[in-house]
Amino acid sequence: MTDQLVQNFQYRRDVMRVLLIITFIGGCVFSVVNFQRGIWPLAIIELVYGLFSLWLWRQIMTTKYFQKWVTIYVVPFFVIMIYGLSVPQSSESIFVWILTIPVISYLLMGRKQGFWFSLTFIIFGIMAYHWRFISTEHNFSLNVAISVNVILSSFLMMTFAHVYETNREQNEDRLLSLAGTDPLTGLANRMKLNESFNQLSALAARHHDPLTVVLFDLDLFKTINDIHGHAVGDDALRHVANFLQQNTRKSDLLARFGGEEFALLMVATDIEKGHQQVNALRKLLMKTPFTTPKCDIHITLSAGISSFGQDGYDLNRLLDTADKRLYYAKENGRNQVISNDVTDDEQC
Ligand code: GH3
Ligand code: MG
Ligand code: MG
Repeated sequence: MTDQLVQNFQYRRDVMRVLLIITFIGGCVFSVVNFQRGIWPLAIIELVYGLFSLWLWRQIMTTKYFQKWVTIYVVPFFVIMIYGLSVPQSSESIFVWILTIPVISYLLMGRKQGFWFSLTFIIFGIMAYHWRFISTEHNFSLNVAISVNVILSSFLMMTFAHVYETNREQNEDRLLSLAGTDPLTGLANRMKLNESFNQLSALAARHHDPLTVVLFDLDLFKTINDIHGHAVGDDALRHVANFLQQNTRKSDLLARFGGEEFALLMVATDIEKGHQQVNALRKLLMKTPFTTPKCDIHITLSAGISSFGQDGYDLNRLLDTADKRLYYAKENGRNQVISNDVTDDEQC
């Protein structure tokens, strides 16, 4: 339930798996090739790294320390590339691997870490290339042309990767925010309420802080729709949503729970204090009518309140308890707040 609004980095594990299998195969192949060419230190490093990749391939889907393993894998991967480029027997074609640095960094580590890794290793890669292949045997303009090619192609790849990852992150943030928002009122929706409850209740339990759950239901709202029409009803709902948002703390979580029902998580607030504050809110709403060009529409609310710990630890249980108390409020004439079980035999 909570994972729905959390960024999903599963794709990074998939990318990593593909890379690991390619590294294993590449490591073994290059190891044989370099051994035959007599570059045996590189051949041994490639073989060890290939075997390490195979081992990591088995762990990577389940490890809790994914980002740490990525760093442990990526740093030697890039270092071996640069070392391979700089050894005397190396071929110029190794430079194509340097161009994979930004793509690998951004895909596996995201925008911030990807940027710093790309920048650092591309600079070292270009330096290794220059040290190895820019030669006094070439004339000056050929050396300049080679340098410009190498520098521009590397930074072009890095810029593309950066722009792509920045846009991807922004789109993901926007989608996550939309998925947690009620379209009519702009308040949090039920999914976001669930997620916030898990975070706030964990904090409350850790710090031994109270947490109060409130369920509001507008009184006789159907008559507003019946008299003024559904569109005015929608505006009235936005008015109440705005009113509640303006008059509750930013640290609390206000959500549209359903039709004309709202839920509020009051952090660091015990049930008595919560009752007083919600009652004050109820009275203030009576004095804050929804103004239309034709008339003022007076809206009232009823509320049921429950307390984390005292009435249970699970959101559904706490909402059920608040709902039962809300039901008492409705039964007893509406426009009131109930925060305790009135009598057991009234339950049905
Ligand atoms: P009560 O005091 O018992 O709660 O009376 P009520 O009329 O509010 O009754 P109830 O809660 O059962 O009905 C809710 C009404 O809210 C029914 C529906 O017409 C209206 N409603 C629910 N969602 C929306 C919405 O998104 N827009 C509009 N305009 N009306 C809605
Ligand atoms: Mg209702
Ligand atoms: Mg109602």
